[in-house]
Amino acid sequence: LIRLFVRSPLSAGAVIAATTDHAHYLGSVMRLASGAELRLFNGADGEWSAKFVAVGRRGARFEVICQERAQAPGSDLDLIIALVKRSRLETIIEKAAELGARRVRLAITARTNSDRTNVERLAAIAIEAAEQTGRLDAPELQAPERLATLLAAWPAGRRLMFCDEAGDAASALDALAGAGPWAVLIGPEGGFTPEERAAVRAVPGAVAVSLGPRILRADTAAIAALTLWQAKLGDWRGS
Ligand code: SAM
Repeated sequence: LIRLFVRSPLSAGAVIAATTDHAHYLGSVMRLASGAELRLFNGADGEWSAKFVAVGRRGARFEVICQERAQAPGSDLDLIIALVKRSRLETIIEKAAELGARRVRLAITARTNSDRTNVERLAAIAIEAAEQTGRLDAPELQAPERLATLLAAWPAGRRLMFCDEAGDAASALDALAGAGPWAVLIGPEGGFTPEERAAVRAVPGAVAVSLGPRILRADTAAIAALTLWQAKLGDWRGS
């Protein structure tokens, strides 16, 4: 069954106008027949069965039928990723959605060579990946922020898995401990400056970790770090 993330409230009997993109995707790309069933989720109301109804030549609506799964909170895990090349960033966003990150924050650091990215496109990639995974939300994405700004407003109680390639950090599996909200921080292709490393390590709740003796590309590092976190502290335990 096709699963779609929608931005409308979901309840029995609700009728939702499909966006132009959804109407095109379902009607023209997937060639879904009017009246076919699909699943909808919105990150708040669980997953619902719904009927796809074509309207005119290009429009569509969803008629919500009943709840199939109740909303369940996933891990409260942020991925903070320095801006890297577009293709790598897109891979990171897709994998972060698959690996259960709740939010992706884009950081501008001393060695990032751009302070811009197409956040809407990244959000669309996150949603598409979330639709395929079966998760009940889609990772939130925010406009890029300076690392210093992000660290200055660090939320109390959120721990930080600082992936530090400099070589003196503890092994991630040994260093990770403690329930509650976490964030994973991955640097740009040029790495962090010594000042940035010191500032990150000074964040209350920061844990500097190594991802092994080899320097990994940012996309590999993000996937490895999220995997280790899920295996040690997240929803891979016992599943
Ligand atoms: N230019 C840096 C250098 O050569 O030292 C490498 C930066 S690496 C491509 C990008 C980011 O991935 C790093 O800032 C770090 O967050 C993470 N990373 C890569 N390898 C790592 C490792 N072995 N341990 C911890 N973090 C790592």
